[in-house]
Amino acid sequence: MKAVFACALLLLGIGCQPSTAADTAPGRLSYAASLVPAGNGMRLDVELSFPGGDAGRTRLYLPSHFSGQRALYENVHNLRAASPGAALADTDQPDVKTVTFPPGQDVRVRYEIAPDPQGASGQPGAYFRPALSAQEFHGIGTTLWAYPAQYHKTVSVSLHWTLPLGWTFCDSLGAGQTDQAFTGTLEQFLASAYLAGDYRLRTLRAAGQPITLALRGKWKSSDDALASVSARIVEAEREFWDDRDFPSFLVAVVPTEPAGDGGSDAGVELTHTVLLFGDKSRALDFSFQYVLAHELFHTWNADAIRTEGLYWFSEGFTDYYARLLLLRAGLISTDEYARDVNRVLREYAQSPARSRPGDEAARGFYAGSDLSRLPYQQGMLLAARWNVQIRAATGGKSSLDDAMRDLRRTARANDAPVTAPDIAGAVSRYASQADPLGDVRRVVTGGGTLSPEPGALGPGWALRTVGVAPFEAGFDARATLDARVVSGVKPKSRAFGAGLRDGQEVLGCTAWTPGDANGRIALTVRDAEGSRDIEWTPAGDPIPTPQFVRAKAVSDADCRAWFGNPTPPAAR
Ligand SMILES: [Zn+2]
Repeated sequence: MKAVFACALLLLGIGCQPSTAADTAPGRLSYAASLVPAGNGMRLDVELSFPGGDAGRTRLYLPSHFSGQRALYENVHNLRAASPGAALADTDQPDVKTVTFPPGQDVRVRYEIAPDPQGASGQPGAYFRPALSAQEFHGIGTTLWAYPAQYHKTVSVSLHWTLPLGWTFCDSLGAGQTDQAFTGTLEQFLASAYLAGDYRLRTLRAAGQPITLALRGKWKSSDDALASVSARIVEAEREFWDDRDFPSFLVAVVPTEPAGDGGSDAGVELTHTVLLFGDKSRALDFSFQYVLAHELFHTWNADAIRTEGLYWFSEGFTDYYARLLLLRAGLISTDEYARDVNRVLREYAQSPARSRPGDEAARGFYAGSDLSRLPYQQGMLLAARWNVQIRAATGGKSSLDDAMRDLRRTARANDAPVTAPDIAGAVSRYASQADPLGDVRRVVTGGGTLSPEPGALGPGWALRTVGVAPFEAGFDARATLDARVVSGVKPKSRAFGAGLRDGQEVLGCTAWTPGDANGRIALTVRDAEGSRDIEWTPAGDPIPTPQFVRAKAVSDADCRAWFGNPTPPAAR
Protein backbone atom coordinates (compact mmCIF):
# COMPACT_ATOMS: atom_id res chain seq x y z
CA MET A 1 0.00 0.00 0.00
CA LYS A 2 1.39 3.31 -1.05
CA ALA A 3 0.30 6.79 -0.25
CA VAL A 4 1.51 9.84 -2.09
CA PHE A 5 1.03 13.15 -0.41
CA ALA A 6 1.52 16.27 -2.40
CA CYS A 7 1.73 19.77 -1.12
CA ALA A 8 0.24 21.93 -3.82
CA LEU A 9 1.68 25.20 -2.54
CA LEU A 10 5.23 24.10 -3.04
CA LEU A 11 4.64 22.68 -6.44
CA LEU A 12 2.79 25.08 -8.58
CA GLY A 13 5.82 25.68 -10.70
CA ILE A 14 5.25 29.36 -11.20
CA GLY A 15 8.35 30.95 -12.66
CA CYS A 16 10.02 34.00 -11.16
CA GLN A 17 8.98 37.01 -13.11
CA PRO A 18 10.12 40.63 -12.90
CA SER A 19 7.71 43.10 -11.34
CA THR A 20 5.78 45.35 -13.68
CA ALA A 21 3.33 48.18 -13.28
CA ALA A 22 0.57 45.65 -13.91
CA ASP A 23 1.28 44.17 -10.45
CA THR A 24 -0.87 46.77 -8.79
CA ALA A 25 -4.12 45.87 -10.57
CA PRO A 26 -5.61 42.38 -10.77
CA GLY A 27 -4.78 40.83 -14.12
CA ARG A 28 -7.88 40.07 -16.12
CA LEU A 29 -7.96 36.58 -17.58
CA SER A 30 -10.81 34.94 -19.40
CA TYR A 31 -11.01 31.24 -20.25
CA ALA A 32 -13.61 29.49 -22.38
CA ALA A 33 -13.20 25.74 -21.92
CA SER A 34 -15.13 23.15 -23.94
CA LEU A 35 -15.08 19.39 -23.53
CA VAL A 36 -15.56 17.94 -27.00
CA PRO A 37 -15.56 14.29 -28.19
CA ALA A 38 -12.29 13.24 -29.83
CA GLY A 39 -11.40 9.70 -30.84
CA ASN A 40 -12.54 7.33 -28.10
CA GLY A 41 -12.50 10.01 -25.41
CA MET A 42 -12.61 13.75 -24.94
CA ARG A 43 -10.47 16.77 -25.66
CA LEU A 44 -10.46 20.08 -23.79
CA ASP A 45 -10.55 23.10 -26.11
CA VAL A 46 -9.40 26.30 -24.40
CA GLU A 47 -9.60 29.90 -25.51
CA LEU A 48 -7.70 32.35 -23.31
CA SER A 49 -8.14 36.10 -23.69
CA PHE A 50 -6.50 38.93 -21.80
CA PRO A 51 -5.76 42.66 -22.29
CA GLY A 52 -2.46 42.81 -24.13
CA GLY A 53 -1.10 46.04 -22.69
CA ASP A 54 0.93 48.73 -24.42
CA ALA A 55 4.17 46.83 -24.97
CA GLY A 56 2.73 44.72 -27.79
CA ARG A 57 4.64 41.73 -26.50
CA THR A 58 4.47 39.32 -23.58
CA ARG A 59 5.40 35.81 -22.62
CA LEU A 60 2.87 33.02 -22.31
CA TYR A 61 3.45 30.26 -19.74
CA LEU A 62 2.13 26.80 -20.57
CA PRO A 63 1.43 24.05 -18.01
CA SER A 64 4.83 22.76 -16.96
CA HIS A 65 5.09 20.64 -13.82
CA PHE A 66 3.06 19.66 -10.78
CA SER A 67 3.83 17.37 -7.84
CA GLY A 68 6.71 15.59 -9.51
CA GLN A 69 4.87 15.32 -12.87
CA ARG A 70 6.90 16.97 -15.61
CA ALA A 71 6.60 18.12 -19.24
CA LEU A 72 2.87 18.84 -18.91
CA TYR A 73 3.20 21.18 -21.92
CA GLU A 74 3.33 18.03 -24.04
CA ASN A 75 -0.44 17.74 -23.49
CA VAL A 76 -0.95 21.17 -25.13
CA HIS A 77 -1.70 20.82 -28.84
CA ASN A 78 -2.55 23.18 -31.68
CA LEU A 79 -1.56 26.31 -29.76
CA ARG A 80 -2.29 29.33 -31.92
CA ALA A 81 -2.97 33.06 -31.77
CA ALA A 82 -6.63 33.84 -32.48
CA SER A 83 -6.90 37.65 -32.29
CA PRO A 84 -6.17 40.00 -35.24
CA GLY A 85 -2.47 40.79 -35.63
CA ALA A 86 -1.35 38.46 -32.81
CA ALA A 87 1.43 35.91 -33.33
CA LEU A 88 3.15 33.26 -31.21
CA ALA A 89 6.81 32.31 -31.28
CA ASP A 90 8.86 29.64 -29.51
CA THR A 91 11.51 30.44 -26.91
CA ASP A 92 14.39 28.25 -25.74
CA GLN A 93 12.03 26.86 -23.04
CA PRO A 94 9.32 24.47 -24.25
CA ASP A 95 6.80 25.77 -21.67
CA VAL A 96 7.29 29.47 -22.55
CA LYS A 97 6.10 31.20 -25.75
CA THR A 98 6.35 34.81 -26.89
CA VAL A 99 3.14 36.57 -27.95
CA THR A 100 3.24 39.72 -30.07
CA PHE A 101 0.11 41.76 -30.77
CA PRO A 102 -1.03 45.29 -31.70
CA PRO A 103 -0.45 47.43 -28.56
CA GLY A 104 -3.54 48.04 -26.44
CA GLN A 105 -5.52 45.22 -28.04
CA ASP A 106 -7.06 42.22 -26.31
CA VAL A 107 -5.16 39.04 -27.09
CA ARG A 108 -6.75 35.66 -27.73
CA VAL A 109 -4.93 32.35 -27.92
CA ARG A 110 -6.41 28.90 -28.38
CA TYR A 111 -5.12 25.43 -27.58
CA GLU A 112 -6.29 21.91 -26.92
CA ILE A 113 -5.49 19.57 -24.02
CA ALA A 114 -5.40 15.98 -25.24
CA PRO A 115 -5.66 12.80 -23.12
CA ASP A 116 -2.37 12.32 -21.29
CA PRO A 117 -0.87 8.90 -22.08
CA GLN A 118 1.00 8.91 -18.75
CA GLY A 119 -2.23 9.54 -16.82
CA ALA A 120 -3.33 5.95 -17.38
CA SER A 121 -0.01 4.47 -16.23
CA GLY A 122 -1.36 3.54 -12.79
CA GLN A 123 1.58 5.28 -11.07
CA PRO A 124 0.16 7.22 -8.08
CA GLY A 125 1.73 10.55 -9.09
CA ALA A 126 0.31 10.25 -12.62
CA TYR A 127 -3.18 10.74 -11.17
CA PHE A 128 -2.37 14.44 -10.99
CA ARG A 129 -2.17 14.67 -14.79
CA PRO A 130 -5.34 15.67 -16.70
CA ALA A 131 -7.73 12.77 -17.37
CA LEU A 132 -10.07 12.87 -20.37
CA SER A 133 -12.23 9.87 -21.19
CA ALA A 134 -15.67 9.25 -22.67
CA GLN A 135 -17.06 9.09 -19.12
CA GLU A 136 -15.22 11.78 -17.19
CA PHE A 137 -12.76 14.62 -17.05
CA HIS A 138 -10.66 15.82 -14.15
CA GLY A 139 -7.81 18.25 -14.09
CA ILE A 140 -5.88 20.63 -11.82
CA GLY A 141 -5.55 24.27 -12.94
CA THR A 142 -1.75 24.14 -13.02
CA THR A 143 -1.93 21.29 -15.53
CA LEU A 144 -4.58 22.99 -17.73
CA TRP A 145 -4.25 26.77 -17.87
CA ALA A 146 -1.79 28.82 -19.88
CA TYR A 147 -1.37 32.38 -18.61
CA PRO A 148 0.50 35.54 -19.66
CA ALA A 149 3.59 36.70 -17.81
CA GLN A 150 2.46 40.14 -16.78
CA TYR A 151 -0.18 38.99 -14.29
CA HIS A 152 1.46 37.11 -11.51
CA LYS A 153 0.04 38.42 -8.26
CA THR A 154 -3.70 38.94 -8.10
CA VAL A 155 -5.91 37.90 -10.95
CA SER A 156 -9.54 38.42 -11.82
CA VAL A 157 -10.59 35.36 -13.79
CA SER A 158 -13.76 34.51 -15.65
CA LEU A 159 -14.32 30.93 -16.80
CA HIS A 160 -17.00 29.60 -19.07
CA TRP A 161 -17.43 25.84 -19.43
CA THR A 162 -19.21 23.98 -22.22
CA LEU A 163 -19.92 20.35 -21.34
CA PRO A 164 -21.32 17.31 -23.12
CA LEU A 165 -25.05 16.90 -22.58
CA GLY A 166 -25.89 15.29 -19.24
CA TRP A 167 -22.44 15.71 -17.68
CA THR A 168 -22.22 16.78 -14.05
CA PHE A 169 -19.67 19.49 -13.21
CA CYS A 170 -17.97 20.55 -10.00
CA ASP A 171 -14.90 22.59 -9.19
CA SER A 172 -12.90 24.46 -6.56
CA LEU A 173 -13.70 28.06 -7.42
CA GLY A 174 -17.17 28.39 -8.88
CA ALA A 175 -19.33 25.99 -6.81
CA GLY A 176 -20.07 23.93 -9.90
CA GLN A 177 -21.42 26.80 -12.03
CA THR A 178 -20.42 26.71 -15.71
CA ASP A 179 -20.03 30.51 -15.70
CA GLN A 180 -17.63 31.58 -13.01
CA ALA A 181 -15.72 34.57 -11.70
CA PHE A 182 -12.78 34.36 -9.31
CA THR A 183 -10.51 37.02 -7.83
CA GLY A 184 -7.44 35.99 -5.84
CA THR A 185 -3.80 35.20 -6.30
CA LEU A 186 -2.55 33.42 -9.40
CA GLU A 187 -1.39 30.62 -7.10
CA GLN A 188 -4.90 30.16 -5.70
CA PHE A 189 -6.38 30.19 -9.19
CA LEU A 190 -3.98 27.57 -10.52
CA ALA A 191 -4.46 25.39 -7.40
CA SER A 192 -7.99 24.57 -8.52
CA ALA A 193 -9.65 21.32 -9.53
CA TYR A 194 -12.29 20.71 -12.20
CA LEU A 195 -14.27 17.48 -12.52
CA ALA A 196 -17.00 16.59 -15.00
CA GLY A 197 -18.82 13.52 -16.23
CA ASP A 198 -20.64 10.77 -14.36
CA TYR A 199 -19.93 12.23 -10.90
CA ARG A 200 -22.49 12.06 -8.11
CA LEU A 201 -22.63 15.23 -6.00
CA ARG A 202 -23.75 15.49 -2.40
CA THR A 203 -23.90 18.47 -0.11
CA LEU A 204 -22.64 17.79 3.42
CA ARG A 205 -22.53 20.18 6.34
CA ALA A 206 -19.76 20.68 8.87
CA ALA A 207 -20.73 23.14 11.62
CA GLY A 208 -23.37 24.57 9.29
CA GLN A 209 -20.99 25.19 6.38
CA PRO A 210 -21.65 23.39 3.08
CA ILE A 211 -19.19 20.91 1.64
CA THR A 212 -19.64 19.34 -1.78
CA LEU A 213 -18.66 15.69 -1.98
CA ALA A 214 -18.05 14.48 -5.55
CA LEU A 215 -17.83 10.75 -6.26
CA ARG A 216 -17.99 8.44 -9.23
CA GLY A 217 -17.82 4.72 -9.80
CA LYS A 218 -19.00 1.87 -7.63
CA TRP A 219 -17.23 1.77 -4.27
CA LYS A 220 -16.99 -0.94 -1.69
CA SER A 221 -18.43 1.58 0.79
CA SER A 222 -21.74 3.34 0.29
CA ASP A 223 -21.91 7.01 -0.67
CA ASP A 224 -23.57 7.61 2.72
CA ALA A 225 -20.59 6.10 4.56
CA LEU A 226 -18.08 8.10 2.51
CA ALA A 227 -20.08 11.28 3.14
CA SER A 228 -20.34 10.64 6.87
CA VAL A 229 -16.63 9.94 7.30
CA SER A 230 -15.65 12.95 5.18
CA ALA A 231 -17.87 15.27 7.21
CA ARG A 232 -16.48 13.97 10.52
CA ILE A 233 -12.88 14.48 9.39
CA VAL A 234 -13.63 18.02 8.19
CA GLU A 235 -15.42 18.80 11.46
CA ALA A 236 -12.57 17.42 13.58
CA GLU A 237 -9.97 19.55 11.81
CA ARG A 238 -12.02 22.74 11.80
CA GLU A 239 -12.67 22.22 15.50
CA PHE A 240 -8.96 21.69 16.17
CA TRP A 241 -8.11 25.01 14.54
CA ASP A 242 -11.34 26.71 15.66
CA ASP A 243 -11.67 27.82 12.04
CA ARG A 244 -15.02 27.54 10.28
CA ASP A 245 -14.71 30.31 7.73
CA PHE A 246 -15.27 28.20 4.60
CA PRO A 247 -18.25 29.41 2.55
CA SER A 248 -17.67 26.52 0.14
CA PHE A 249 -15.44 23.47 0.09
CA LEU A 250 -15.01 20.52 -2.27
CA VAL A 251 -13.99 16.99 -1.39
CA ALA A 252 -13.61 15.12 -4.69
CA VAL A 253 -12.87 11.41 -4.74
CA VAL A 254 -11.67 9.87 -7.99
CA PRO A 255 -11.66 6.06 -7.98
CA THR A 256 -8.55 4.20 -9.01
CA GLU A 257 -8.23 0.59 -10.02
CA PRO A 258 -6.64 -1.78 -7.49
CA ALA A 259 -2.93 -2.11 -8.25
CA GLY A 260 -0.99 -5.34 -8.08
CA ASP A 261 0.50 -4.50 -4.69
CA GLY A 262 -2.81 -3.81 -2.98
CA GLY A 263 -3.83 -0.45 -4.36
CA SER A 264 -2.83 3.06 -3.64
CA ASP A 265 -4.31 6.24 -2.32
CA ALA A 266 -3.05 9.68 -3.23
CA GLY A 267 -4.28 13.16 -2.58
CA VAL A 268 -3.60 16.84 -2.97
CA GLU A 269 -4.82 19.90 -1.14
CA LEU A 270 -5.93 22.73 -3.42
CA THR A 271 -7.85 26.01 -3.02
CA HIS A 272 -10.96 25.18 -0.91
CA THR A 273 -10.53 21.61 -2.11
CA VAL A 274 -9.16 18.21 -1.24
CA LEU A 275 -8.78 16.00 -4.30
CA LEU A 276 -8.36 12.32 -3.48
CA PHE A 277 -7.54 9.32 -5.60
CA GLY A 278 -8.72 6.22 -3.79
CA ASP A 279 -8.70 2.49 -4.36
CA LYS A 280 -12.44 1.80 -4.64
CA SER A 281 -11.97 -1.84 -3.73
CA ARG A 282 -10.88 -0.81 -0.22
CA ALA A 283 -12.67 2.52 0.14
CA LEU A 284 -13.03 3.44 3.80
CA ASP A 285 -10.06 1.78 5.42
CA PHE A 286 -7.38 3.53 7.45
CA SER A 287 -5.40 4.56 4.37
CA PHE A 288 -8.31 6.40 2.75
CA GLN A 289 -9.23 8.26 5.95
CA TYR A 290 -5.60 9.07 6.57
CA VAL A 291 -5.02 10.61 3.14
CA LEU A 292 -8.15 12.77 3.52
CA ALA A 293 -7.15 13.88 7.04
CA HIS A 294 -3.58 14.58 5.90
CA GLU A 295 -4.49 16.62 2.83
CA LEU A 296 -7.18 18.55 4.67
CA PHE A 297 -4.72 19.45 7.45
CA HIS A 298 -2.57 21.19 4.80
CA THR A 299 -5.32 23.84 4.63
CA TRP A 300 -3.68 25.11 7.82
CA ASN A 301 -0.21 23.54 7.95
CA ALA A 302 1.02 24.63 4.49
CA ASP A 303 -1.54 27.26 3.44
CA ALA A 304 -2.21 29.23 6.66
CA ILE A 305 1.18 28.39 8.23
CA ARG A 306 3.55 28.67 5.29
CA THR A 307 7.15 27.43 5.46
CA GLU A 308 9.94 27.36 2.93
CA GLY A 309 11.21 23.81 2.46
CA LEU A 310 10.59 22.68 6.07
CA TYR A 311 9.08 19.39 4.92
CA TRP A 312 9.65 17.80 8.34
CA PHE A 313 7.11 20.33 9.63
CA SER A 314 4.69 20.69 6.69
CA GLU A 315 4.55 16.93 6.06
CA GLY A 316 5.71 15.25 9.27
CA PHE A 317 3.55 17.34 11.63
CA THR A 318 0.65 16.97 9.20
CA ASP A 319 1.07 13.18 9.39
CA TYR A 320 1.21 13.36 13.20
CA TYR A 321 -2.06 15.31 13.37
CA ALA A 322 -3.84 13.34 10.63
CA ARG A 323 -3.48 10.22 12.78
CA LEU A 324 -4.28 12.01 16.05
CA LEU A 325 -7.40 13.77 14.75
CA LEU A 326 -8.78 10.52 13.28
CA LEU A 327 -8.40 9.05 16.77
CA ARG A 328 -10.07 12.04 18.42
CA ALA A 329 -12.91 11.93 15.86
CA GLY A 330 -13.60 8.35 16.91
CA LEU A 331 -12.74 7.03 13.45
CA ILE A 332 -9.82 4.82 14.51
CA SER A 333 -9.03 2.92 17.70
CA THR A 334 -5.96 3.39 19.89
CA ASP A 335 -4.75 0.01 18.56
CA GLU A 336 -4.96 1.27 14.98
CA TYR A 337 -3.20 4.45 16.05
CA ALA A 338 -0.35 2.53 17.70
CA ARG A 339 -0.13 0.06 14.81
CA ASP A 340 0.43 2.91 12.38
CA VAL A 341 2.99 4.64 14.62
CA ASN A 342 4.82 1.28 14.83
CA ARG A 343 4.72 1.00 11.03
CA VAL A 344 6.46 4.39 10.73
CA LEU A 345 9.03 3.37 13.39
CA ARG A 346 9.83 0.20 11.40
CA GLU A 347 10.05 2.20 8.17
CA TYR A 348 12.43 4.66 9.88
CA ALA A 349 14.58 1.92 11.46
CA GLN A 350 14.96 0.22 8.08
CA SER A 351 15.40 3.38 6.01
CA PRO A 352 18.77 3.63 4.25
CA ALA A 353 18.17 7.42 4.21
CA ARG A 354 17.69 7.94 7.95
CA SER A 355 21.09 9.56 8.52
CA ARG A 356 21.10 11.78 5.46
CA PRO A 357 21.46 15.52 6.16
CA GLY A 358 18.48 17.81 5.73
CA ASP A 359 19.53 19.65 2.59
CA GLU A 360 19.89 16.33 0.78
CA ALA A 361 16.50 15.18 2.02
CA ALA A 362 14.89 18.46 0.89
CA ARG A 363 16.42 18.14 -2.58
CA GLY A 364 15.26 14.54 -2.88
CA PHE A 365 11.77 15.19 -1.53
CA TYR A 366 10.00 14.52 -4.82
CA ALA A 367 12.24 11.66 -5.91
CA GLY A 368 9.73 9.12 -4.58
CA SER A 369 12.43 7.25 -2.66
CA ASP A 370 13.42 6.56 0.97
CA LEU A 371 14.76 10.12 0.98
CA SER A 372 11.29 11.52 0.29
CA ARG A 373 9.83 9.58 3.26
CA LEU A 374 12.46 10.86 5.71
CA PRO A 375 10.84 14.26 6.54
CA TYR A 376 7.54 12.49 7.32
CA GLN A 377 9.32 10.14 9.76
CA GLN A 378 11.46 12.86 11.36
CA GLY A 379 8.50 15.23 11.71
CA MET A 380 6.31 12.61 13.38
CA LEU A 381 9.06 11.81 15.89
CA LEU A 382 9.78 15.49 16.62
CA ALA A 383 6.08 16.29 17.05
CA ALA A 384 5.62 13.39 19.47
CA ARG A 385 8.77 14.37 21.39
CA TRP A 386 7.80 18.01 21.79
CA ASN A 387 4.25 17.06 22.76
CA VAL A 388 5.65 14.90 25.59
CA GLN A 389 8.00 17.69 26.68
CA ILE A 390 5.23 20.31 26.73
CA ARG A 391 2.86 18.05 28.64
CA ALA A 392 5.57 17.24 31.18
CA ALA A 393 6.56 20.88 31.64
CA THR A 394 2.95 22.07 32.10
CA GLY A 395 1.65 19.15 34.13
CA GLY A 396 -0.62 18.14 31.25
CA LYS A 397 -2.28 21.56 30.98
CA SER A 398 -0.82 22.30 27.54
CA SER A 399 0.25 20.21 24.59
CA LEU A 400 1.73 20.61 21.14
CA ASP A 401 -1.80 21.61 20.04
CA ASP A 402 -1.33 24.96 21.82
CA ALA A 403 2.00 25.59 20.09
CA MET A 404 0.41 24.82 16.70
CA ARG A 405 -2.44 27.26 17.29
CA ASP A 406 0.06 29.90 18.44
CA LEU A 407 2.01 29.38 15.21
CA ARG A 408 -1.11 29.95 13.17
CA ARG A 409 -1.75 33.22 15.01
CA THR A 410 1.87 34.27 14.41
CA ALA A 411 1.66 33.37 10.73
CA ARG A 412 -1.56 35.34 10.34
CA ALA A 413 -0.14 38.39 12.14
CA ASN A 414 3.15 38.43 10.23
CA ASP A 415 1.92 37.27 6.81
CA ALA A 416 5.34 35.69 6.26
CA PRO A 417 6.69 32.15 6.09
CA VAL A 418 7.26 30.47 9.45
CA THR A 419 10.88 29.48 10.16
CA ALA A 420 12.44 26.70 12.23
CA PRO A 421 13.26 29.21 15.05
CA ASP A 422 9.59 30.33 15.01
CA ILE A 423 8.45 26.72 15.44
CA ALA A 424 11.05 26.07 18.14
CA GLY A 425 10.02 29.29 19.91
CA ALA A 426 6.37 28.19 19.96
CA VAL A 427 7.40 24.92 21.65
CA SER A 428 9.84 26.54 24.10
CA ARG A 429 7.14 28.95 25.26
CA TYR A 430 5.50 25.97 26.99
CA ALA A 431 8.59 23.83 27.65
CA SER A 432 11.52 26.05 28.58
CA GLN A 433 13.77 23.06 29.36
CA ALA A 434 13.31 21.60 25.88
CA ASP A 435 15.75 22.37 23.08
CA PRO A 436 13.61 22.11 19.96
CA LEU A 437 15.98 24.10 17.76
CA GLY A 438 18.84 21.85 18.91
CA ASP A 439 16.70 18.84 17.99
CA VAL A 440 16.11 20.24 14.51
CA ARG A 441 19.81 20.97 14.01
CA ARG A 442 20.87 17.54 15.22
CA VAL A 443 18.22 15.42 13.51
CA VAL A 444 17.02 17.29 10.43
CA THR A 445 20.00 19.43 9.47
CA GLY A 446 22.72 17.14 10.78
CA GLY A 447 21.23 13.78 9.83
CA GLY A 448 21.25 12.43 13.39
CA THR A 449 18.78 9.70 14.27
CA LEU A 450 16.00 10.17 16.80
CA SER A 451 14.55 7.56 19.15
CA PRO A 452 10.87 7.81 20.01
CA GLU A 453 9.90 9.20 23.42
CA PRO A 454 8.85 6.31 25.71
CA GLY A 455 5.75 8.26 26.79
CA ALA A 456 4.78 9.40 23.29
CA LEU A 457 1.54 7.37 23.32
CA GLY A 458 0.62 8.08 26.93
CA PRO A 459 0.48 5.73 29.91
CA GLY A 460 -1.32 2.98 28.00
CA TRP A 461 1.64 2.06 25.85
CA ALA A 462 5.19 0.97 26.68
CA LEU A 463 8.17 1.21 24.38
CA ARG A 464 10.14 -1.97 23.66
CA THR A 465 13.03 -2.67 21.33
CA VAL A 466 12.41 -5.75 19.24
CA GLY A 467 14.19 -7.34 16.28
CA VAL A 468 12.21 -6.70 13.10
CA ALA A 469 13.25 -8.41 9.89
CA PRO A 470 13.17 -6.11 6.85
CA PHE A 471 11.82 -7.26 3.50
CA GLU A 472 14.65 -8.75 1.47
CA ALA A 473 13.80 -10.54 -1.78
CA GLY A 474 17.33 -11.98 -1.85
CA PHE A 475 17.78 -11.52 -5.61
CA ASP A 476 17.45 -8.84 -8.27
CA ALA A 477 13.72 -9.20 -8.83
CA ARG A 478 13.33 -6.62 -11.57
CA ALA A 479 16.20 -7.90 -13.74
CA THR A 480 15.16 -11.50 -13.13
CA LEU A 481 11.53 -11.01 -14.11
CA ASP A 482 12.50 -8.91 -17.16
CA ALA A 483 14.98 -11.51 -18.47
CA ARG A 484 13.17 -14.58 -17.06
CA VAL A 485 16.63 -15.64 -15.84
CA VAL A 486 17.62 -15.44 -12.15
CA SER A 487 20.31 -12.87 -11.30
CA GLY A 488 21.70 -11.00 -8.30
CA VAL A 489 21.15 -13.77 -5.73
CA LYS A 490 22.63 -12.74 -2.35
CA PRO A 491 24.81 -15.55 -0.98
CA LYS A 492 23.54 -15.39 2.63
CA SER A 493 19.88 -14.74 1.83
CA ARG A 494 16.88 -16.99 2.42
CA ALA A 495 16.47 -17.11 -1.36
CA PHE A 496 19.93 -18.70 -1.62
CA GLY A 497 19.13 -21.04 1.25
CA ALA A 498 15.97 -22.17 -0.58
CA GLY A 499 18.04 -23.08 -3.66
CA LEU A 500 17.77 -20.01 -5.88
CA ARG A 501 20.89 -19.53 -8.03
CA ASP A 502 22.00 -17.07 -10.72
CA GLY A 503 21.41 -18.41 -14.22
CA GLN A 504 18.29 -20.48 -13.48
CA GLU A 505 15.51 -20.03 -16.01
CA VAL A 506 12.26 -18.69 -14.49
CA LEU A 507 9.23 -20.69 -15.70
CA GLY A 508 6.66 -19.12 -13.40
CA CYS A 509 5.93 -17.10 -10.25
CA THR A 510 3.03 -18.19 -8.03
CA ALA A 511 3.60 -15.96 -4.97
CA TRP A 512 5.12 -12.51 -4.65
CA THR A 513 4.58 -10.14 -1.72
CA PRO A 514 6.64 -7.01 -2.39
CA GLY A 515 7.55 -5.17 0.81
CA ASP A 516 6.11 -7.84 3.12
CA ALA A 517 8.84 -9.64 5.07
CA ASN A 518 6.24 -12.06 6.45
CA GLY A 519 4.93 -13.02 3.03
CA ARG A 520 6.43 -15.50 0.60
CA ILE A 521 7.96 -15.73 -2.84
CA ALA A 522 7.42 -18.85 -4.92
CA LEU A 523 9.13 -19.39 -8.27
CA THR A 524 9.28 -22.32 -10.66
CA VAL A 525 12.80 -22.51 -12.07
CA ARG A 526 14.76 -24.78 -14.42
CA ASP A 527 18.48 -25.54 -14.57
CA ALA A 528 20.74 -28.46 -15.49
CA GLU A 529 19.07 -30.59 -12.80
CA GLY A 530 15.58 -30.02 -14.23
CA SER A 531 12.63 -27.86 -13.16
CA ARG A 532 11.34 -27.40 -9.61
CA ASP A 533 9.44 -25.08 -7.28
CA ILE A 534 11.38 -22.87 -4.85
CA GLU A 535 9.66 -20.97 -2.04
CA TRP A 536 10.95 -18.79 0.78
CA THR A 537 10.04 -16.00 3.21
CA PRO A 538 11.63 -12.75 1.94
CA ALA A 539 13.05 -11.61 5.30
CA GLY A 540 16.50 -10.18 5.97
CA ASP A 541 18.44 -10.14 9.26
CA PRO A 542 16.40 -8.56 12.12
CA ILE A 543 17.08 -4.91 12.93
CA PRO A 544 16.60 -3.59 16.52
CA THR A 545 13.43 -1.50 16.27
CA PRO A 546 11.49 0.48 18.90
CA GLN A 547 7.82 -0.55 18.98
CA PHE A 548 4.93 0.41 21.27
CA VAL A 549 3.10 -2.40 23.08
CA ARG A 550 0.04 -2.28 25.34
CA ALA A 551 0.70 -1.62 29.03
CA LYS A 552 -1.63 -4.11 30.67
CA ALA A 553 -2.59 -2.10 33.75
CA VAL A 554 -4.18 0.78 31.83
CA SER A 555 -7.76 0.64 30.53
CA ASP A 556 -8.55 1.60 26.94
CA ALA A 557 -10.73 4.44 28.23
CA ASP A 558 -7.70 5.91 30.03
CA CYS A 559 -5.58 5.34 26.91
CA ARG A 560 -8.04 7.28 24.79
CA ALA A 561 -8.48 10.01 27.37
CA TRP A 562 -4.76 10.76 27.21
CA PHE A 563 -5.12 11.46 23.48
CA GLY A 564 -8.10 13.72 24.11
CA ASN A 565 -10.61 11.18 22.83
CA PRO A 566 -12.94 9.93 25.54
CA THR A 567 -15.26 8.04 23.14
CA PRO A 568 -14.55 4.71 21.44
CA PRO A 569 -14.65 4.46 17.64
CA ALA A 570 -18.19 4.54 16.31
CA ALA A 571 -19.37 1.90 13.84
CA ARG A 572 -17.49 2.27 10.60
ZN1 LIG B 1 1.29 16.41 2.51
